Amino acid sequence: MLLTGALLGVLLASGGSTALREAVSGSAALHALVMVLALEVAVLPLAWLRVLVLECEYGLADVAPGAWWKLSVARIAISAVFAAGAAELLFAMLRTWPAWWWGPAAAAGVLLAALATSLAPAVILPLVDRPRPLGPGPLRARVSDLARRIGVHAIAVEECGTADPHGRARASLVGAGATRRVLVSSRLLADFTDDEIEVILAHELGHQVHRDLLRTLTAEFVVLLVGLCAAGRVLDATWAPLALASRADPAALPLILLVAGAVRVAAVPALNALSRRAEQRADRFALDNVSRPDAFAGAVRRMAAHTLAEEHPSRAVYWLFHTHPTLDQRIADAEAMRYAGDAQTRGAAAGTRGFSRASNARCRVLAARGFSPASRALSERPAAPSCPCSARRARGCSRTRRCLSGPPGTRT
Ligand SMILES: [Zn+2]
Repeated sequence: MLLTGALLGVLLASGGSTALREAVSGSAALHALVMVLALEVAVLPLAWLRVLVLECEYGLADVAPGAWWKLSVARIAISAVFAAGAAELLFAMLRTWPAWWWGPAAAAGVLLAALATSLAPAVILPLVDRPRPLGPGPLRARVSDLARRIGVHAIAVEECGTADPHGRARASLVGAGATRRVLVSSRLLADFTDDEIEVILAHELGHQVHRDLLRTLTAEFVVLLVGLCAAGRVLDATWAPLALASRADPAALPLILLVAGAVRVAAVPALNALSRRAEQRADRFALDNVSRPDAFAGAVRRMAAHTLAEEHPSRAVYWLFHTHPTLDQRIADAEAMRYAGDAQTRGAAAGTRGFSRASNARCRVLAARGFSPASRALSERPAAPSCPCSARRARGCSRTRRCLSGPPGTRT
């Protein structure tokens, strides 16, 4: 991102953007096409070094060089074509509505993103891979049963070698509307147990149930609107000093991208906070609907190991870079579920409504901490855990969820 920003700055300050506009006869689409191709090719060696040299060397990625190049070329070509179309539309709006072009442009940008999300599984994915439905077997039966229980009958689950382009173990919810499906990477199916895969898929289906894609697009629209508005203000003040022909000069494209990009970077902590909230909601959905806290803890531990996730990030790193809760936070949720399950079992066995004061306190502290050291010892069964909040959770009382989750802001 920093390299891309620096290259855009050089292109603008050196007059390269103006020269490019002359070379493409003022065509905004060709200007964007050439610019995006040049930027992508400039950063390609870094991507090659990171994936094919470092990540493959240390076993974090598992992708053949030929497949990686094929994917990279397809991604760059698709990006360039999309950028050309978007730029043509953007500068048409700049010419038509010079004072408030940024409003319709932001709306069009988000609609294009939604269109790309919707079409990607049906149009773009088949260019590089051929997803196939999960084969018949115990896992497919469990996934079908899970989908039926939570009411998402129509969603497909498909195995796809490029569900993660770097060959990592991963599942992801892709598409929108009729093209919505869950893609599961071949490595996930090979390396993880059926229990772990089921809980991971429940997490992905949780995103579908909570309409997280819509929430994400809404947040991105707000950020894009502010970014393009700021770009409009800067463009009004600088198009003449920068020797641009007008506000709608295609040579202004690097300036618009730089300002909107800077606003996007400034919004990253807020977007990450929204993402962490959605991920935690999906985690709890998975735990509620699969009720396998051990499998959940095992899955998130192995996922974290696959990505070398930092277990104990500093507060600054957490706010700036983490799109998911930390490993400790996720395991604490699984621990809370285990306490609830144990309480239900013990309460049924004892036929009693009595709860010890010590276990009440332990349950509350565990839920409120998020980072409880005890969360790392999930395999150790706690002694006599039993508390009213657990019992309420077992009965499905909404107050139970607040009790176990803690009020907003208790997690750090
Ligand atoms: Zn997720």
